[in-house]
Amino acid sequence: MTDTATIALVPEPVAGRHIPADLPTRIQHYIDGAFVDSADGDTFDVLDPVSNEVYLQAAAGKKADIDRAVAAARTAFAEGPWPRMLPRERSRILHRIADIVESRDARLAELESFDSGLPITQALGQARRAAENFRFFADLIVAQADDTYKVPGRQINYVNRKPIGVAGLITPWNTPFMLESWKLGPALATGNTVVLKPAEFTPLSASLWAGIFEEAGLPKGVFNLVNGLGEDAGDALVKHPDVPLISFTGESSTGRLIFGNAAPYLKGLSMELGGKSPAIVFADADLDAAIDATIFGVFSLNGERCTAGSRILVQREVYDEFVSRYAAQAARVVVGYPHDPATEVGALVHPEHYEKVMSYVELGKTEGRLVAGGGRPEGFETGNFVAPTVFADVAPDARIFQEEIFGPVVAITPFDTDEEALALANDTKYGLAAYVWTNDLKRAHNFAQAVEAGMVWLNSNNVRDLRTPFGGVKASGLGHEGGYRSIDFYTDQQAVHITLGEVHNPTFGKTDAAASH
Ligand code: NAD
Repeated sequence: MTDTATIALVPEPVAGRHIPADLPTRIQHYIDGAFVDSADGDTFDVLDPVSNEVYLQAAAGKKADIDRAVAAARTAFAEGPWPRMLPRERSRILHRIADIVESRDARLAELESFDSGLPITQALGQARRAAENFRFFADLIVAQADDTYKVPGRQINYVNRKPIGVAGLITPWNTPFMLESWKLGPALATGNTVVLKPAEFTPLSASLWAGIFEEAGLPKGVFNLVNGLGEDAGDALVKHPDVPLISFTGESSTGRLIFGNAAPYLKGLSMELGGKSPAIVFADADLDAAIDATIFGVFSLNGERCTAGSRILVQREVYDEFVSRYAAQAARVVVGYPHDPATEVGALVHPEHYEKVMSYVELGKTEGRLVAGGGRPEGFETGNFVAPTVFADVAPDARIFQEEIFGPVVAITPFDTDEEALALANDTKYGLAAYVWTNDLKRAHNFAQAVEAGMVWLNSNNVRDLRTPFGGVKASGLGHEGGYRSIDFYTDQQAVHITLGEVHNPTFGKTDAAASH
């Protein structure tokens, strides 16, 4: 393994900037078991969100680098041991990966928090969840059962599940390490080889996979990593003819572009896209629990969360009480430096994203009633800090009700009846998650049935069971991953048919009469 260069940075002191020890200043690609620069030597700048100073140069991959990575992954698939290993052997390596990730959770969290601005306690949770993803698929692959159908005395039909080949994995910058594990776990468990293109805002944690995989014994060429911009490296991966699968997580508009670019190749696509998920609070709900959950639901992970409950719909009877309690609690949410364990909302990932979120905060002031936050929090003169911001009385045609902001900003809207709540909940192009708060059992289940969302939580925060499907409807996604559905996405299911009794042959061309015609 060629190590990436590490030097101790001696930057200008920037208030609140905690610099991890041995921070790399250069990140390369990882292709066929070696760290390499881009073929053309090009790099791009990476900033940390507290100082917005460049702290790292990452190799900027282009088509030539993707070609190299895909060739390595193809050779590892066609000739290497990985797809041919027993599931138990692959599972052992995956468990070792989980062990290593768990044993380094503090370091991973420190780097992730520094690079992305996520609060350190939440980054730690994400590192552990990344380990859990590997463990889950390590267990699932050895328990995998496939269908067999018997026609007594005549035929047996069975499903022969096979890895597909080189999987292209394209990931976003929110909780990057965890979301990469979400794709890497099942893609590798099923015997595929991969090329990962992580998000350009946050390439730091992805670069750690290479060392972790080598240590765990993953064969050379099975995992390849190409850094770079979406329109260069990502685009080349999507258009590579030897990559039959693309698993993408990111914005709906990018998903649409990738869908078109992959169409000529008829690739297998899985898309986890944007959201504007509603949290619906009925008057009969446990208001304390609903307030805690809806605060966490939009302000955790800095609000940079695809399943954020960023529209809260509240029944008129409890609306005023809800809004005043919610605003007071939002104002108490602790904004702080990402490395501080007391921090609940850290710094947004990048100044470009900060500008976007701030533009929605300004827009919100014309579209709703500002009841908390509304700008840069006091005491944070630099860096991408946004105070948890709450707008009440937001009309459904407001842009802050319709568009994904992806920051600590929430819109609250009143409703009167169940029908109105449902209409409001479904009134966006997205359909990722929905959260329903009521103590009426019938209402809860009927609402879940009718709401246009891939995932519904009833009287619950966003707590996942890894066996359940994960995905969105409408503009929030295409297909489902999670549990055996991920196994389905990363495998071909070939049907094999065997005759048991007499061969069932209608015989053509048997008689002379047939021959004379
Ligand atoms: P993005 O779409 O800008 O980028 C995602 C990835 O796609 C990056 O690696 C980027 O480099 C790459 N990319 C960009 N253009 C490309 C192209 N033309 N071809 C190939 N690849 C390209 O998204 P983002 O800003 O990084 O992430 C935030 C978005 O992700 C939000 O919309 C959020 O809701 C969504 N998200 C969804 C889920 C989910 O599971 N549904 C989870 C996390 C994030």
